[in-house]
Amino acid sequence: MADSKDYYKVLGVSRDASQDEIKHAYRKLSKKYHPDLNKAPGAEEKFKEISQAYEVLGDKDKRAQYDQFGSAGPQGQGGFGSFGGQDFGGFGGGQSFGGFDDIFSQFFGGGRQQANPNAPRQGSDLQYQMDLTFKEAIFGKETTISYTREATCHTCNGTGAKPGTSPETCHKCHGSGYIQITRQTPLGRMQTREVCDVCHGTGKEIKQKCPTCHGSGHEEERHSVKVKVPAGVEDGQQMRLSEQGEAGENGGPYGDLFIVFRVAPSKKFQRDGPEIYLEVPISFVQAALGDELQVDTVSGKVKLKVPAGTQTNTTFRLRGQGAPRLRGNGRGDQHVKVKVVTPKHLNGKQKEALKAFATASGQSMSETEGSLFDKLFGKHKK
Ligand SMILES: [Zn+2]
Ligand SMILES: [Zn+2]
Repeated sequence: MADSKDYYKVLGVSRDASQDEIKHAYRKLSKKYHPDLNKAPGAEEKFKEISQAYEVLGDKDKRAQYDQFGSAGPQGQGGFGSFGGQDFGGFGGGQSFGGFDDIFSQFFGGGRQQANPNAPRQGSDLQYQMDLTFKEAIFGKETTISYTREATCHTCNGTGAKPGTSPETCHKCHGSGYIQITRQTPLGRMQTREVCDVCHGTGKEIKQKCPTCHGSGHEEERHSVKVKVPAGVEDGQQMRLSEQGEAGENGGPYGDLFIVFRVAPSKKFQRDGPEIYLEVPISFVQAALGDELQVDTVSGKVKLKVPAGTQTNTTFRLRGQGAPRLRGNGRGDQHVKVKVVTPKHLNGKQKEALKAFATASGQSMSETEGSLFDKLFGKHKK
């Protein structure tokens, strides 16, 4: 049983070890045998022993009591206050349990939850706005963009220490990143654990800082990256370029770059996803007799046959003349809406022709100018 073990032996320290030495030994061993990190059989049991030993030896008063009782142990003596019979039930059976912080919180009551400051962390993501013309968005393009970002310092390779030196163990917390503070409270002496104010929890101290980054491990750089804008992007869409963001911490990966596309509108075309819309004016003669038009598309002029008797606002579809589909194959269509334009100014010959047209249509024209012409062509002047 763990209870019967000699706590000094468990922590591998001599009986006259200082409190600091005990703490040190405990940190080292608990990290080594922490079941999160050490999956070897027996590691968990060992971890419990270490924790129990430190509960007692880590506290001066309890240690003194323990020294009186000897290695046979304080268990059942009732002299160990809140630490007596510490429940490790949650650790059994290889179940998942919290990290160090949870355990420290149990021990010291006041421990705050804090992410390990030495854990690798991914850098920040960046956003880059890319302006595209209407056609660039449709056909895509390859380009190189440049922007300023926080990169890993090239002088110290991110350590923050002057080349040839390396970060040292923090002198105040001896590398644990935490300091113990003992307070007198109405309930007795309370130990709390706080983040070390020298190293801010990293356990490391940089004595000789890198001349380039002054210890941050990062430096600003002008970074260029090639971007292949996919054909068919739309305004507001974004694209992720992984690890083109800012440098990570503690060897963590770079963040990502998000490119947000801003697409300029076209004076001629309207676009909705892969579909493109265009309005084309035609004369009433073309509408009546039919014609073959040369219609603008994003890829140039395309023939469009307008049949005889076409009404205004009729829409024709030019298949495959739209924008490429980002997901899926092929291109959308171009929708051409014809607008029949009524002539505003007619010369005498044109008027005669139209009167003849009206007569041929069996329509009687009033002798005075107006009426039918007004109705047909929208003239309102008498
Ligand atoms: Zn540096
Ligand atoms: Zn420190």
